[in-house]
Amino acid sequence: IKIKVSNIDLPVACASAFEGEIIRKADMFCEADGSRKDCFELVRTKELHEVEDHKIELIGQDFDAMEVGCKINLAIIIDIAGKNMQSDFEPVFERKIHNYVNCLEGVMHTGQRDLIRIRVSKSSFEAGFRVKHFGELLYAKMKNDFSQVVDKCQVTLVTEPELVTKLRKEANEIYDKRDARLRSLTDESVECFYTCTLCQSFSPSHVCIVTPERLGLCGAVSWLDAKSTNELQPSGPCQVVTKTKVIDEAKGAYEDVNEAVSTYSHGALDKVTLYSIMEDPMTSCGCFECICGIEPMSNGVIIVNREYAGSTPLGMTFAELASMTGGGVQTPGFMGHGRHFIASKKFMKAEGGIARIVWMPKALKDSVAERLNISAKELYGIDNFTDRIADESISEDPDTLMAYLSEKGHPALEMEPMM
Ligand code: SF4
Ligand code: ZN
Repeated sequence: IKIKVSNIDLPVACASAFEGEIIRKADMFCEADGSRKDCFELVRTKELHEVEDHKIELIGQDFDAMEVGCKINLAIIIDIAGKNMQSDFEPVFERKIHNYVNCLEGVMHTGQRDLIRIRVSKSSFEAGFRVKHFGELLYAKMKNDFSQVVDKCQVTLVTEPELVTKLRKEANEIYDKRDARLRSLTDESVECFYTCTLCQSFSPSHVCIVTPERLGLCGAVSWLDAKSTNELQPSGPCQVVTKTKVIDEAKGAYEDVNEAVSTYSHGALDKVTLYSIMEDPMTSCGCFECICGIEPMSNGVIIVNREYAGSTPLGMTFAELASMTGGGVQTPGFMGHGRHFIASKKFMKAEGGIARIVWMPKALKDSVAERLNISAKELYGIDNFTDRIADESISEDPDTLMAYLSEKGHPALEMEPMM
């Protein structure tokens, strides 16, 4: 018998009503900002004898010793032990930290891994909120929500700057190992895909089909995450989708996938392809990291990420493209997708693949360059493919775009028309 933790010892309220709360700079007591100072959050699987249940430890200074408005180092390390615990569950638990911490009154959380940002408001500090309360909250939530696998849980919070820096390096090795495990999987090498219907709360007919080479469009649900979610919550948002009834492998069309989409969209959709943006593309809810859209003059596509506020050679911003792409409907020629999908060999495979990419904002291009260049070399033998892709510093209109692509000998110019 597992005992539920019903009373969490917290000086501030904790409810989903606070989830969207924004803490402005003027109201902020302190901030852990992973883009400025070493910060991270990590869930680790341990042996039962290595974990002391409900141990909450703070290493370093508490908020009392800090100045108003300061940027702090913060590591949140959750050690979990349990007979049914698997290391594949770690990322799923880790992502829940975002939801849990956001439910705290006067606390804001964004991001994940070592790119988190956590703000604590002055009023919550005055109410008595201290670093250890993160531990109390996370301990109780992990024990309650995942009682079938969490037998013991301890939380270590570190604010000591040098130690956080050292521990962050170790955390990065763990993140890298997880990513490498996912990269070793292909859509062909697995027996099934998974649905994700988490976004149906606001986009009722939307279903993501998550495969090893195509993560959910929010960027937060990989195939391994979906698999773990299915094991943790068998009747939850991630259901098994078999892939035995192939219609067209190159397009990623399967009868089983169509059946799943029809069932879980409640009849709103009857077919999707996994690798085409022109023919029955996957639908988009609202939380896609990126949108790709057809650029007719070059025969290619542009990709724009949510963070980019400027215009694109299509004459539209991310927000304008998003308004015509979201809502759980199919819009051939436009598709929301995750950032990681850009370097995938399955990206628009039906239309010729990543060789169609003609424009991206520079920051996005830089962030995907390494993996994208490796894929382009393997698929087409092209070196430094990203050099041939334009960005906002090169063009924001179709004419200068075309001039640049011709000068660089971009492969899309030689490809068959998409329309
Ligand atoms: Fe799930 Fe992400 Fe798709 Fe939403 S966008 S349904 S959370 S995979
Ligand atoms: Zn969504």
